[in-house]
Amino acid sequence: MGRVYNFSAGPAVLPEAVLKSAAEEMLDYNGTGMSVMEMSHRSKAYDEIIKTAERDLRELMGIPDNYKVLFLQGGASQQFAMIPMNLMKNKAADFIVTGQWAKKAYQEAARYGKANKIASSEDKTFSYIPDCSDLPISEDADYVYICENNTIYGTKFKELPDTKGKTLVADVSSCFLSEPVDVTKYGIIYGGVQKNIGPAGVVVVIIREDLITEDVLPGTPTMLTYKTHADAESLYNTPPAYGIYICGKVFKWIKEMGGLEAMKAHNEKKAKILYDFLDESRLFKGTVVKEDRSLMNVPFVTGNEELDAKFVKEAKAAGLENLKGHRSVGGMRASIYNAMPIEGVEALVAFMRKFEEANV
Ligand SMILES: *Cc1c(COP(=O)(O)O)cnc(C)c1O
Repeated sequence: MGRVYNFSAGPAVLPEAVLKSAAEEMLDYNGTGMSVMEMSHRSKAYDEIIKTAERDLRELMGIPDNYKVLFLQGGASQQFAMIPMNLMKNKAADFIVTGQWAKKAYQEAARYGKANKIASSEDKTFSYIPDCSDLPISEDADYVYICENNTIYGTKFKELPDTKGKTLVADVSSCFLSEPVDVTKYGIIYGGVQKNIGPAGVVVVIIREDLITEDVLPGTPTMLTYKTHADAESLYNTPPAYGIYICGKVFKWIKEMGGLEAMKAHNEKKAKILYDFLDESRLFKGTVVKEDRSLMNVPFVTGNEELDAKFVKEAKAAGLENLKGHRSVGGMRASIYNAMPIEGVEALVAFMRKFEEANV
């Protein structure tokens, strides 16, 4: 069987060129006579891999010198605790709750201090992004937290909230490197890489240097202190070495594709094909307010659960995999990350058209 079009929300599709290149280097990386998986993380060869990965990421995102790039473990979910442990000097933070991931971060932070929910879109099943132009930001808040792209619900902040001078912390797991970003607007940008960058097991944290201190909450483990990893350049202990190597290959691939501007154009083109079809379809409809639509995760429904299930099943048989919506919302969801080729989206829409003709 050949490769399918994989619309999984994560772990998700990776560029075929990256997988092929990793396969070629599997037994002998660059004349070392061993796989990257077998190599010491203190070796010269590995040092080159991790340094190059960081350099390429810095170049792609235009990361200023006063930000550190950390390659950590524990997934995005571990950051839900690590952020408050390191940043909550006043023991207070504000949260904009736009989906399950933001909600989990909010609930986790409440274990460490006062977590204030200053806006939410839960009233309408997280189908929109609340107006964040004049929020009741708490005077004592150490930071304001958002989940920038809501993987499950398919919404994205098109404008960052006005934090009234407070540090902005953003989970960008599902929109990492999908478009250009102004890093200076954030205190922390972080994400698990298994959505848009690489294999599960790595989380990238981009953090402004003044937020990296020894002044963390009492009891914070060494491993959960940003300073530990910043001082050791992500090599305090054994890092997720193979995962970082694949991330590095994806960074190179994005550079070859033309960088983040080109990525954005590519993603907009793909998303338009799908959204235009959803807007004209007699059977399928998108579930999200138009202005807040994500370029990465596109949820849609037929309005009939049985028909949804039939669609997912028949799509799978046609080589279009993982279109089932998240268990909390049902329906369908097509995740069309950077590595999803335009042909994949075209094949999906062609299949949806055929399904519509046969079922309306
Ligand atoms: C998938 C996801 C997470 C959880 O990531 P883990 O690495 O599994 O902990 C958190 N936030 C967002 C936005 C996600 O898409």
